Amino acid sequence: MSALPPGSVIGVLGGGQLGRMLAEAAGRLGFDGHVFSDRADSPAGRVAAKEFVAPYDDAAAARAFAAGCDVVTFEFENVPAATAAAAAERAPVRPGPRALDVAQDRVREKEFARACGAETATFAPVGSKADIADGLGRVGAPAILKSRREGYDGKGQAKVETGADVHAAWRAIGETPAILEAFAAFAFEVSLVAARGFDGSLAFYDLVENDHAGGVLRETRAPARDLDSLTPPARAVMTTALEKLDYVGVLAIEFFVMPDGRLLVNEFAPRVHNSGHWTQDATACGQFEQHIRAVAGWPLGDPARTADAVMTNLFGDDVLDAPRLAADPANRVHVYGKRPLREGRKTGHVTRVG
Ligand code: AMP
Repeated sequence: MSALPPGSVIGVLGGGQLGRMLAEAAGRLGFDGHVFSDRADSPAGRVAAKEFVAPYDDAAAARAFAAGCDVVTFEFENVPAATAAAAAERAPVRPGPRALDVAQDRVREKEFARACGAETATFAPVGSKADIADGLGRVGAPAILKSRREGYDGKGQAKVETGADVHAAWRAIGETPAILEAFAAFAFEVSLVAARGFDGSLAFYDLVENDHAGGVLRETRAPARDLDSLTPPARAVMTTALEKLDYVGVLAIEFFVMPDGRLLVNEFAPRVHNSGHWTQDATACGQFEQHIRAVAGWPLGDPARTADAVMTNLFGDDVLDAPRLAADPANRVHVYGKRPLREGRKTGHVTRVG
């Protein structure tokens, strides 16, 4: 494929903040960003050249949307497989369906991580309440029960400390196919964001360190501590994953760093990632432009870190503080334009540079 010329249309499935920042990056390179959102007046739709509103499982609408695009990508991994397939009938979808397939199912994701040569927490697939007690014997206590599909940001998860918790945990996740994972007593959490271009070239951002609370990312620090020892094994897993998936675009991998320095893969995100937001302000080519370049068949940009950075998420009406935060020249303030500002939901972020 030759590189898409400016003026081409890049379609994004998903209307949230990631879609918004993708549409902005597309616009800067002269593309029209078209957004497919399940509700009108979405954060992405408001900055896109066109917003297309339909339910995410409306395959006919996805087909019609893709007919007006030169390439289609997505901002969330729970795009229904049938929707992605329908879009693919009209335009190339990048990254392709294999990446969605792996990332949508926590059991397949762990198996894929192992096939990439990575370690993961010990796990057991759960199909019924009885499997939980069984699995607890195999993975050991404490463990975390997570729904296999559709979970994000700590939703659809319950801790299982003893056999007495099994019933409540099964109820808490909605009595749905699940995975029981050993609780990883990690020293800290890191993630790696990287891109693979249409020509197979690779670009890696620095490994970063993440703090979560209640399963939700609060802060990312670039670079992570122990960069020299952690980078080679993390990049090895990333390279294998990108190549096995014949991936085009940005991929993120979250890892637990164990006290002895071993890395366990927690999760793959086949898209731009919250822990990569710092790259907008502390590299020459941030993750959103990088993803647009990759899916448009352009050469990848320079991912080298130009300064240390700390990215802090803003939740709910925290963003009303944006003018005060913007007074500090070290702060780069990003507000997502969410309406309404719901408590606990990500509504912006601030990156402190230098
Ligand atoms: P997830 O939704 O799987 O990305 O989990 C969100 C966060 O919950 C992770 O970033 C960890 O902080 C925590 N967590 C998830 N799984 C485990 C585990 N097996 N052991 C310890 N902490 C976990």
